[in-house]
Amino acid sequence: MSDHLQPETLALHTGIHRSQFNEHSEAMYLTSSFVFDSAAQAAARFSGDEPGNIYSRFTNPTVTAFEERLAVLEGAETCIATSSGMSAILACVMGLLSAGDHIIASRSLFGATVNLFNNILKKFNIETTFVAATDVHSWQAAIQTNTKLFFLETPSNPLTEVSDISALAEIAKKSNLWLVVDNCFCTPVLQKPLELGADIVIHSATKYLDGQGRVLGGAVLGKRDVLMEGGIYGFLRTAGPTLSAFNAWVILKGLETLKIRVETHSRNALQLAQWLESHPNVLRIFYPGLMSHPQYELAKQQQKSGGGIVSFEVKGGKEAAWRVIDSTRLISITANLGDTKSTLTHPATTTHARISQEARDAAGISDGLLRIAVGLESVQDLQTDLARGLAL
Ligand SMILES: *Cc1c(COP(=O)(O)O)cnc(C)c1O
Repeated sequence: MSDHLQPETLALHTGIHRSQFNEHSEAMYLTSSFVFDSAAQAAARFSGDEPGNIYSRFTNPTVTAFEERLAVLEGAETCIATSSGMSAILACVMGLLSAGDHIIASRSLFGATVNLFNNILKKFNIETTFVAATDVHSWQAAIQTNTKLFFLETPSNPLTEVSDISALAEIAKKSNLWLVVDNCFCTPVLQKPLELGADIVIHSATKYLDGQGRVLGGAVLGKRDVLMEGGIYGFLRTAGPTLSAFNAWVILKGLETLKIRVETHSRNALQLAQWLESHPNVLRIFYPGLMSHPQYELAKQQQKSGGGIVSFEVKGGKEAAWRVIDSTRLISITANLGDTKSTLTHPATTTHARISQEARDAAGISDGLLRIAVGLESVQDLQTDLARGLAL
């Protein structure tokens, strides 16, 4: 596909390999293995002398179509699809790191990522140091002789802290480290970490890429040599956290509408954030698209807009926050995000309940904090739904 085409065009026309039936919509190849013409061909496929599909744990045409489409949107040489966002992170670290290596990660990470680094990788003698997402110097200062990788997500969950990708990429390059960015919140529609100097992009395709709350999926993107020779593909092919053809097809079709969805999520979120900011019962608001956000200027440079996630602290602590949740009739009480339907969570008692009160206080996850993943409903209807609990 020629690269002078615009992203919204590429999202529709990349990764199309029509079968003999000339279908217009992409075919779904639900098959675990592929048939060879002869014993000699089977041998050539297995040895790698002849390219082609062998077994769906390795490659599958529907999964390949999804990988090609997402790679072109992120501006990546290669994409490896995985069964979930977490298995994308696992494949990345299992491929690139060995026992004795060290990771430096943002303190503001998705909860399961913190668990993976702290509790699982530690068992295999891979240690992680957590540093402030927004303090570039603390990343530099934490580098040890065995540090191999920087890991961050920006904006972060739930406080929407923005990390300086270009500045951290420069430090990573100087120290010969990989910079890995989880681009879940922005998607390539709003932010392209590889263009800013990151080596690897991670996706939870479960979120905006599917965008309709249907299936789990993930992806690792970057240069061919890092992903293929770096051992990431080897880990996937051997250990098997592969994306299913069915899920790949669902997400492939999700990518077709990614741009219009993400732009609308972001526009709705900004409107809702502005309304919340002026509400008398809202103490603080966290949204990178508002001028009151501490990294507003940085966000403006590296993201096209603020994205779909808004967090806000209500007066009256947990009781008041729960009242807002329990007074909704439209917004779903669920922890997923990136769905067409708006979702609302109380981080302190759900996604961040397993960390101590002190750690929560240090991280700024107060008892009055609420996170809304703004959907595609009318903003006016969302305001009415939130106003009911806020007014009490
Ligand atoms: C959801 C999420 C993940 C994990 O993805 P799954 O598909 O649930 O495994 C990783 N990072 C971020 C930022 C997420 O929101």
